[in-house]
Amino acid sequence: LVELTHVEKHYGDLHVLKDINLTVKKGEVLVIVGPSGSGKSTMCRTINRLETIDSGDIRIDGKPLPQEGKELASLRAEVGMVFQSFNLFANKTILENVTLAPIKVRHMDKKAAEDLAMDLLSRVGVASQASKMPSQLSGGQQQRVAIARALAMQPKVMLFDEPTSALDPEMVNEVLDVMVELAHEGMTMLCVTHEMGFARKVADKVVFMADGQILEQSTPEDFFENPKTDRAKDFLSKIL
Ligand code: ATP
Ligand code: MG
Repeated sequence: LVELTHVEKHYGDLHVLKDINLTVKKGEVLVIVGPSGSGKSTMCRTINRLETIDSGDIRIDGKPLPQEGKELASLRAEVGMVFQSFNLFANKTILENVTLAPIKVRHMDKKAAEDLAMDLLSRVGVASQASKMPSQLSGGQQQRVAIARALAMQPKVMLFDEPTSALDPEMVNEVLDVMVELAHEGMTMLCVTHEMGFARKVADKVVFMADGQILEQSTPEDFFENPKTDRAKDFLSKIL
């Protein structure tokens, strides 16, 4: 469903992505780990073209990424993204946050968009907050709204970039639980996270990045029990 082949990217002199080759099949959950600055976020952002690449190829469902315009908007609709910071529209209600894109981009009528939104908000456990403003919700609640908002576009794949790292510890699990449920429902997911319990529970593959390269791709069992590279061993010794 998502294929990156020989992807290269520089920021000036910094070679941030080096020959990245990665395939995510439909329904697979990949967890991406690695030290800070290794290029995890940059790689995620290339997939919905928030970042351009210097060379190589990225395909979603067999189609190369569009460069601009209408096609780019529809690509972004197919690739849901949830970031570390919640990025909700501060001046819109929770319900409006979720209905906005389906109405604008998918041309859904308001009633249908609201029904869908309420459905998703109850799935993530925040339906009762629908008429509130984002600032009235806890971080964990806001992040669950952000997930509902992304799901409202009926994406083919969801990208998560450290969705729990800005949360107070007691809110981490409520967000992870939603992600686990999504994974069990068969959503194709790429997750940058340091939540190793999550990786062990739902990842089909763990991808270890360091210095812009993918150094290991293996099952969680293999990665945690038998890391092959010194970089991965070193990384694991620091976080486990
Ligand atoms: P973290 O775990 O801290 O989130 P990361 O693996 O997500 O790290 P990236 O954010 O992808 O790493 O950054 C990779 C490298 O690229 C870093 O050295 C970073 O400073 C650099 N970088 C990121 N964005 C830009 C940018 N817009 N311009 C220049 N350099 C950038
Ligand atoms: Mg990052």
